[in-house]
Amino acid sequence: MSRLVMKFGGTSVATPDRIKRAAKRVAREVANGHDVIVIVSAMAGKTNELVGWVNETSPMYDAREYDAVVSSGENVTAGLMALTLQEMEIPARSWQGWQVPLKTNGAHGAARIEKIPTANLDEKFAAGMKVAVVAGFQGISPEGRITTLGRGGSDTTAVAFAAAFDAVRCDIYTDVDGVYTTDPRITAKARKLDRIAFEEMLELASLGAKVLQTRSVELAMRFGVKLRVLSSFEEYDETAGTLVCAEDEIMESNVVNGVAYSRDEAKMTLLGVEDRPGIAAAIFGPLAEAGVNVDMIVQNISEGGKTDMTFSCPVDQVARAKQAIEASGAVEYGELVVDDNVAKVSVVGIGMRSHAGAAARMFAALKDEGINIRVITTSEIKISVLIDRKYMELAVQALHDAFELEKAR
Ligand code: ADP
Ligand code: ASP
Ligand code: MG
Repeated sequence: MSRLVMKFGGTSVATPDRIKRAAKRVAREVANGHDVIVIVSAMAGKTNELVGWVNETSPMYDAREYDAVVSSGENVTAGLMALTLQEMEIPARSWQGWQVPLKTNGAHGAARIEKIPTANLDEKFAAGMKVAVVAGFQGISPEGRITTLGRGGSDTTAVAFAAAFDAVRCDIYTDVDGVYTTDPRITAKARKLDRIAFEEMLELASLGAKVLQTRSVELAMRFGVKLRVLSSFEEYDETAGTLVCAEDEIMESNVVNGVAYSRDEAKMTLLGVEDRPGIAAAIFGPLAEAGVNVDMIVQNISEGGKTDMTFSCPVDQVARAKQAIEASGAVEYGELVVDDNVAKVSVVGIGMRSHAGAAARMFAALKDEGINIRVITTSEIKISVLIDRKYMELAVQALHDAFELEKAR
């Protein structure tokens, strides 16, 4: 029997009525002859509410209890989805992560999946179950405690199940009808892509496009999972949505295929750092130990044996970063300057490997809008800049125009 994985995000299961709509899509796939594994998110807004309650109760919370609370939203939707399917006379059963069991490491709040044994579900499918509804985003640690996979983690649950059960496809149902050239909420000129290469999707996701969790794309690429993103609200047909696939399955590619943004960034600069071997290690070692996700790093040319070191990190990690640097005492510096009003905007395209000039075009477009660039980083297929947050939308729109992405398909 062929297996299909269908994942429904928060807006697609936001009410009992929407769960019913989603269940009808599941019913159609059962009628098509598939055994279906449905992965559900919590109802829209639920996880944010739970995170809020945790922070209110305990600002320096125990991550194990954070996971105990924050994973609960998915338990509700999994049960409701199973009940809805049963009402439609489809043999369905819900599964929490630990019941499968979806085994993860012990990194609470951002756990990585280690193994999904298939025996339990296989046995039920063999006995006539048509749909297994699995609570997304959650697993169980080696110590037997509930873990969560990081925000947006149900995407990763879905791809991991598709890989483990050798599914014919992994369909990610969400509130947009596919992957766009940029977030369609930022510009109406954004275009839906019929296909996107794994590498590009990976970059877009890690640079802020939240339509897929980064780790889900990594897994799909590694295990060759056929991954599709489509709307749970629009009419369905075989060619709906965006297929995330290998580069050689795409006929031609533009230099730039997407623009991503990350709104809540901060820039920290250590002024007047002594320029000697080991200084970078002395700064970034303690930051890593404190769990700060350092992103861009720039070191200035030194003058008189002193230099400035700038790095960026998520804005909600500034306090932790400051504390780590001050507590370590391993570096002497003049002043620590924090700018927590910056955003990161990036352009992505595998075409950059073979075409020069993308950076010049990007910088010219930003100049034309009078937007100052604070930090630049590049890799083989992406260019990122840090700019003042108030110009973020404008920058995304300007870059979308500059690379003529309204013509993309
Ligand atoms: P779900 O709850 O279904 O997991 P998410 O909110 O996590 O949905 O992801 C879908 C959202 O991702 C869209 O509503 C859209 O605003 C945003 N998004 C950001 N970048 C893109 C992009 N390039 N293409 C499509 N959607 C994008
Ligand atoms: N509910 C979780 C979150 O909001 C996981 C997910 O929806 O993918 O991050
Ligand atoms: Mg999501």
